[in-house]
Amino acid sequence: MEAFKIKNDLAKFLGLDHLKNYIFKEEVLSEQLLVDNCPICGEKGAPFHNAPCYNMINYTDNFLPSKLWMKCNSCENLYSKYYPHKFFNTNHSIKVIRNGVTPTPSHLQSNVSTHTLRNWCDILNNISEYSNGTDILEIGIGKGALIATALEFGYSIDCIEIDENIAYEISNILNHDIICCDFLNFRTDKTYDIITMGDVIEHLSNPINGLKKAYSLLNDDGVLWISTPNYNSAFNKLHKINTAMWNEPYHLTYFSKTGLENIIKKLGFEILDYRISINYNGSMEIILKKVRI
Ligand SMILES: [Zn+2]
Repeated sequence: MEAFKIKNDLAKFLGLDHLKNYIFKEEVLSEQLLVDNCPICGEKGAPFHNAPCYNMINYTDNFLPSKLWMKCNSCENLYSKYYPHKFFNTNHSIKVIRNGVTPTPSHLQSNVSTHTLRNWCDILNNISEYSNGTDILEIGIGKGALIATALEFGYSIDCIEIDENIAYEISNILNHDIICCDFLNFRTDKTYDIITMGDVIEHLSNPINGLKKAYSLLNDDGVLWISTPNYNSAFNKLHKINTAMWNEPYHLTYFSKTGLENIIKKLGFEILDYRISINYNGSMEIILKKVRI
């Protein structure tokens, strides 16, 4: 940060293609929300790690070039000290994207690999150890891999996606309805046997409200599957600071296994299964059962 303040065109000497034209502007400092207290538990934190998020291909000049991760003194989870105001604007609309609403180019297809589909196959088989239910709600659809796999298995799956372009694309590819909204604003009378939040909670301005919302949408004994980076994972211990998760500009919070356990028990979930993700380096996958409030 200090180097960019002294030399605002520093980026052109870093040899990164996506930064060739990047000029640091001091105004970006005033465009950041200063996160004073831990968004997970509300307590104070201390600086933990400063990461060069300009390294990431998805870096934009809305963000500060370095990302300051704070560690909460109370819940031991991490949060980003600064985050652009503009990404906190909430959109309250709820729209169902149906296939056929927009013209479908005949060449439209996904680039999901067999490896990814097999990964979802293993996850669904693992979940089926704890739930006989067939109604799934997926929060955040990615490239549509879980939807396609769940349909192959015979599940019924409803899907929520905040990004309208992704919702249209996947809806058209799979001929499947997608509900386009912010999950925290989603309203329905329906409840589900299984809810999946794959790489979602680290993006939420209030991850606790996201988990509470999932709780409220589960049937009694329903299960919640979560995948999220674990800042204290075996992978991160082995690779030290050289892992992409530290630099990811769009992430707001990181949990450890213990930190997440402490939070979810208070919300009325019981942990049924914990494993290391084979999809994302340093991520954890947890199956939770709804037990009580
Ligand atoms: Zn905390």
